[in-house]
Amino acid sequence: MPAKLLTGKEVAQKMDLDIQKDVQELKAKGVNPALRIMIVGVAEDSVFYANSAKKMAEKNGIVCEIEQLSGAMSQDEFVTILKQRNADKTIHGIIVMRPFPKQIREDVVKYILSPEKDVDCFNPVNAGKIMAGDLTGFPPATPQAVMEILRFYQVPMSGKEAVVVGRSMVVGKPMSMLLLGENATVTVCHSKTQDLPGVCRRADILVAAIGKAKMITKDYIKPGATVMDVGINPEGDKFVGDVDTEPAKDVAAAITPVPGGVGTVTTRVLLKHVVKAAKLQNP
Ligand code: NAP
Repeated sequence: MPAKLLTGKEVAQKMDLDIQKDVQELKAKGVNPALRIMIVGVAEDSVFYANSAKKMAEKNGIVCEIEQLSGAMSQDEFVTILKQRNADKTIHGIIVMRPFPKQIREDVVKYILSPEKDVDCFNPVNAGKIMAGDLTGFPPATPQAVMEILRFYQVPMSGKEAVVVGRSMVVGKPMSMLLLGENATVTVCHSKTQDLPGVCRRADILVAAIGKAKMITKDYIKPGATVMDVGINPEGDKFVGDVDTEPAKDVAAAITPVPGGVGTVTTRVLLKHVVKAAKLQNP
């Protein structure tokens, strides 16, 4: 039997309903949940991303403002503005788009963004909270989206073998901690891993976060496994994942499509985090 498709659309729809309910409750208390997206300089990708997040936020009743700042501003000027946004009680969540112009150092600025408003895990305090299992933090949107999908489709995690391919700070590492938090037995793989197909074949849950089109072939997949494809790779005029999906469907029990899988859920995670931030800031 071909693998069940774990599509993101249903998950996103359910999340929209939950977000809208929470937004109504907050508004009834006089709190108007608000997201600020800050872009320094001209970056077409960032503007596109910010505009689509704004549309989705507004659809769910969340105020979203995009703040376009000059690419010529100094680091000190940017830090001053960021501190003002931290202090602004009408803003509950802040996303700072990267990359920055070269005069602004990411390793400095990331400590300035208030952890309480850092809805996409830029400040290392939030990365640390994932390690500590502290639920007041904000994991990065992409691994959190994988967790939302696994939970929505009731994929068992406790006691299962999970293998994460990729160890970036935005996906692989936090992904492994989130799975560990659900009591999976987690292995993290990377470019120096020996016998990658063999390690992957141990996985009941296999997460591919590599950035290499269709690298995970069916030979990497244990029969009956759940395969979560995080990859987004351009191929001609479309995008493909890190998993060679069609052949993989013959082996896996369940698999996320690309597009229409993990990526569909990530913006909802950010909005869910804005609502969580607004609640934590207004107990
Ligand atoms: P990244 O920072 O480039 O990290 C890639 C990871 O894959 C690294 O840890 C690297 O190992 C590992 N890797 C590379 N080649 C490998 C190989 N041949 N065998 C085993 N491991 C290998 O990428 P990322 O930011 O984590 O993103 C990963 C993918 O997810 C990309 O396709 C990206 O576009 C996509 N993505 C999707 C979303 C979404 O919303 N769906 C969001 C963010 C990213 P080393 O550490 O040893 O170099």
